[in-house]
Amino acid sequence: MSSTTTLLRDLVALPSVNPMGRAVSGPEFLEQRVTAYLADFFRKLDVPCERQPVAPGRENIVARFDSAGATHTVLWEVHQDTVPVDGMTIPPFGAAIDNGRLYGRGACDIKSGMAAMLAALARLVREGPRGAMNVILACTVDEEYTFLGVQELVKRGVRADFAVVAEPTQLQIVNAHKGVARLLLATSGRACHSSRPEQGISAIYRMGRVLGAVERFAEKLRLGRSDPLLGPAALSVGRIEGGSSVNTVPDACRIEIDRRLIPGENPLATNDELLDYLREQGGIDFELTCPRPWMSMPALDPRGSEQIVSRLGRAINRVVGSHRVIPVPYGTDASTIAGAGIPAVVFGPGDIAQAHTKDEWVSLEEVEKASEILYRLASEPLAA
Ligand SMILES: [Zn+2]
Repeated sequence: MSSTTTLLRDLVALPSVNPMGRAVSGPEFLEQRVTAYLADFFRKLDVPCERQPVAPGRENIVARFDSAGATHTVLWEVHQDTVPVDGMTIPPFGAAIDNGRLYGRGACDIKSGMAAMLAALARLVREGPRGAMNVILACTVDEEYTFLGVQELVKRGVRADFAVVAEPTQLQIVNAHKGVARLLLATSGRACHSSRPEQGISAIYRMGRVLGAVERFAEKLRLGRSDPLLGPAALSVGRIEGGSSVNTVPDACRIEIDRRLIPGENPLATNDELLDYLREQGGIDFELTCPRPWMSMPALDPRGSEQIVSRLGRAINRVVGSHRVIPVPYGTDASTIAGAGIPAVVFGPGDIAQAHTKDEWVSLEEVEKASEILYRLASEPLAA
């Protein structure tokens, strides 16, 4: 069995399920088993690594390979967590291999990419090719829910010339995606018994008026500025909650809003932008609360990533013959890294169509190729 396959099998067998906001119970949750495995791997490889506490039971682990005489540093970033295993039809941590595929939660998203990066790093250490770049391998937590890991990584000031973020792209290069901000918007009122509703103020009626305006704002975004690759920004209301019983005039109502951003938009300004619009609308003469997003990620802007796109593209061509550079609809850690000044693209083995599925799998041949491509990216001289 190749070292890449052994690594992937080990990683899939170690549960690292993101609780995704649910109460944590059961041994499969959080990333610590994978973190411990990685710490052991880096220790045996004799590369220095740093553990970055992010939340209880959740640590980034960041290893560093220094190449003699290197002029550039590439950051490889990959998340340790997976989505939950509810409804899976195969043993989620069985890591069974059948007909060139490895099955299990995270096999595709994105322990495959992690195995490829680990094997490529080990080969760099072993072979020490002349002219190779320095490599920082950052294995982060909580990518599937609130991106705490990558935010901690950039907060600590990681520095590199460019970055490759592992996600299943079928060995293509992703250089653009939308960002996202999740907002809460609340109205308040005055509760009273429903036999005399005129004595109270219904927070739900107030929200009704707000919703019409929110819908108009969503339409305005849809018809507004459009990114050439990604199209226009978007907004939708996904949940509403209000009232305590049918015979009480409700004093509180809130909605949850999903806002998709295009390059150039600041996720942390989306609440003020919405509030400004709503306040200009007639009929909304009461207080609205809309704090800064509780979760956010900027869009991935293709501008600035040209150099890494061409270097990675060359490495892909040498291994598989050709490649495409594409935008995708889903978000990744790459935009947060790019936002910190490190041009970033997304690349990895596996098809996003197999990510998060009930019988998740990845092609082992593709994992091998990804590892070869990453090795070439880091080891081939810049001028080549
Ligand atoms: Zn992923």
